[in-house]
Order: sequence, then structure tokens, then C-alpha cells
Amino acid sequence: MTDRHGCRVGPPRDGGDFATCSRRSFVKASPAVAAALVSASPAAGAEVSARAHQPPTVDGGRVNAILADLRRFGGTSDGGTTRLAYSDDDLAGRNYAAGVMEEAGLEVSIDLAGNLIGRRAGTDPAALPIITGSHIDTVPAGGSYDGHVGSAAAIEVALTLHDHDIALRHPLEVIIFPNEEGGKTGSRALVGRVLPFELDIITASGYTIGDGTARIGGDPARIAEARREPGSVAGFFELHIEQGAFLEADGVQIGVVEGIVGIRRWNITVRGMQNHAGTTPMPQRRDALVAAADLIRDVNEVALTTPGRQVATVGRIEAVPGAPNVVPGEVRATLEIRDLEMSKIASVFAEIERRARAVEEARGVTIGLVHFYESLAAPTDPRFRDIVEASASDLGYTNVRMPSGAGHDAQSMAELGPIGMIFVPSRAGISHSPDEYSAPRDITRGTNVLLHSVLRLDAAG
Ligand SMILES: [Zn+2]
Repeated sequence: MTDRHGCRVGPPRDGGDFATCSRRSFVKASPAVAAALVSASPAAGAEVSARAHQPPTVDGGRVNAILADLRRFGGTSDGGTTRLAYSDDDLAGRNYAAGVMEEAGLEVSIDLAGNLIGRRAGTDPAALPIITGSHIDTVPAGGSYDGHVGSAAAIEVALTLHDHDIALRHPLEVIIFPNEEGGKTGSRALVGRVLPFELDIITASGYTIGDGTARIGGDPARIAEARREPGSVAGFFELHIEQGAFLEADGVQIGVVEGIVGIRRWNITVRGMQNHAGTTPMPQRRDALVAAADLIRDVNEVALTTPGRQVATVGRIEAVPGAPNVVPGEVRATLEIRDLEMSKIASVFAEIERRARAVEEARGVTIGLVHFYESLAAPTDPRFRDIVEASASDLGYTNVRMPSGAGHDAQSMAELGPIGMIFVPSRAGISHSPDEYSAPRDITRGTNVLLHSVLRLDAAG
């Protein structure tokens, strides 16, 4: 059974299959969320009309209770979460999220890629949807905030609109994207980028992407049909933890994300001369590893001294033959450069290449740099940066513009329409670890900025 968006609408099934959208199969919210759901319903009419003149704010207790609830599915005793994409815990977590979406009055469905979608109608039949969401899958021994915060916040935005009976001109879609950590499968399917071979990739849960997609209610054979048309979305907002330490270090409450950095990677091969480590005099050596050391230092220096926020890394190195008594004849390494501007990556690389030629000269080696990977930068929409910034400022939150050094589902969504991203501080910048932490008040602030950004976009047309 599919709805008008080609989404597969789960029929009620016996046995409480997680992959359906039947109301009775959903895991119930904890008492904390349930109490918040009840108390948030406007009771006094006077209070409602007084509030109608000012933009509402979210229920901070409730969004943090939803986050805490999610830890029931794969939460570990060290405060972290292991909720691998397509695992039983992932299914249970998605099922729980679907239940809270229904409490928010959203029409819940699962598309052919397994995206969990909660939709709220708009008043203008011609208006394109505003989408917000994130992911709830984790890396093994991961944290309890990466992706979860943006997912809980998106649901809280829908709950707040529901509580206050606010009609938006645009439809609103809350999406939980599957398998973000294993290749952004859900969001990339929405832009038609999941290639057939990917369905055979075995994910951390042990299921292939294809089998996993079927497990969560999608249809791997028809995953290409999950694709949406570029220009079919009014805008996408994702709230996410920073996963860096800039906001915390500077004491800033909200990051207005300028974009997701582009990435280029090269294989480095340094060739010198392999020789006896005891009998080859120092002046006669053409030591590939010593030359590589020079180059690595140069990479660091170029990235450090060039104006801007680019980063460059040599993250892997191997000496050949790799024996204590042999002067290395060859070194294989990798170079990675990231920046918001692909042209900046190119200019930083050009300088590194120039340095490499100097190292060749000085050390009597040859250095090859072969490009092998590229992920294009995804700048956020300038208008959306203004919307996020104005929302944060009007709420009285300190904010700063910054790039995102990590990839996000928003990167895929940028192909469908304009995107905006909101960062909240991460303690000590730690992520993909049980020590990942963002303070409840910061999560509440971020969720308020998300709500107000949605309202502003809706009002802007
Ligand atoms: Zn994430």
C-alpha cells in the first residue's frame, strides 16, 4: 500500500512488526514524555490567546525526555548508545519515534528507502514542503546525541505546532533518515544517489543495506523510486551537535552553519632507494620515509599558515619494506584536505604540491600525488543562514557562523532545495564516543531556533 508520495504506508500487522506504521505497534513514550504531552496541551483559552501574539517556544523538558527515551533502545551503561542501522534496537527506536510523531498529529509513513516520514498538511495546496530531521542510528559504541538531537528536536517542533494549533502555509515533514553512519542511505536515496551495488554492502549490524532497508519497511528493489525531484522542497533544516569544540570554547550558544565542507583525498607515493641500514652512509641515502616526514610537516604548516579554516591531514602511512634494518625505499600515505570552498582546497593542494617538488629535490626521491576521492562542499543557503541567525538573535542566544567539518544528511538534501543547519555545543568536542554530551539547556535552545527558523521560512513564502 503506498500513499500519494509513493511512500509505503504500513498496514496493521499482527505480532507488532516494527516496520509498520500501525499505531498499536508503536512503543509507548515514557511517563516523562507522556506527562509532557498532556501538560503541553493548551488548557486555558486566555493563555492561548495571549500566547498567540508571540512566537511559541518549545517544551525543553519534553525534547530532552524524548532524547532520554531513545536511550531505551541500545543505550549502554557508560552513557553511550549502540543503535546500529537496521538492528533490532534501530527498529525499536524508529518505532518509538513514529509513535511520538503520531502524538504530534503527523501522518506517518515509510518510503521505499526506509525513511521514516511524519507529514503535516499546510494551508496552501501549492506550497512545497519544509523538511526537518536527522538520524537515530549510531556507530558501534557511539554517543547518545549525534543525530538524536536533531531527530528529537524535529519531532518537538511538530509537537509544539500541534499544541499551539499553529497552521503553517507549507506542509511540514519530519524525517528520520536511515543508515546515516553507514553511508547516508536514506537521504542519498531521496536524491537518487544510492547505487545498486550499495545494497550488497554489509553494514555494522550484519545486515546488508538491501536487507536492512526491507527490515525497516522499505523496498530495496524499488529504492530508486524514493528519489524526489530537485526543487520539490521549500527548504530543509537540520539541528545537530557541533562535534567540535569551537562553540564550547568560545562560550557561544548556537552555531549558524555556513555549510558542510568539501573533501578531497590523494594517495601519496614517495620513492627513494631501499638499502642496508648498517652499511649505507648517511649522505648517500635516499630515504623515502625521511622525505615523507618532510612532506608531512609541510602539509601541516601549509594548512596552519594559509589564511582560512581549511584542514589538511596525512592520516595513514606505510613504509616499505618496513624493517628495522632497512632504509625505506618506498612510502605510501594519504593526504586529505577539507574546506567550504573547493577552490580553496585546490589552492592549498597546489602549495603542498610545490613543497613536494622541493622535497624531491632535497632528498633525491620522487613523490606522486594521485587524487582518489572527492566529496563536494554543500554550502547552506545564504537566506537560510540569515533565518537561523535572526531566530537565534531574537531568542536572545549568542551565535556565530561556522563551517561543519563532518558530513550530514543535509548534504544530500542540498540537492533538493535550500538547506540550513543549526549547531549546539558539544562538550569538549567529543563525538562518536560514549562521552559525547550536549547540555539539556543547549538542546532546548537549539530546538527553539529550529522551530523559529521553520516559522520564519513559512512566513517568508
Ligand atoms: Zn550525525
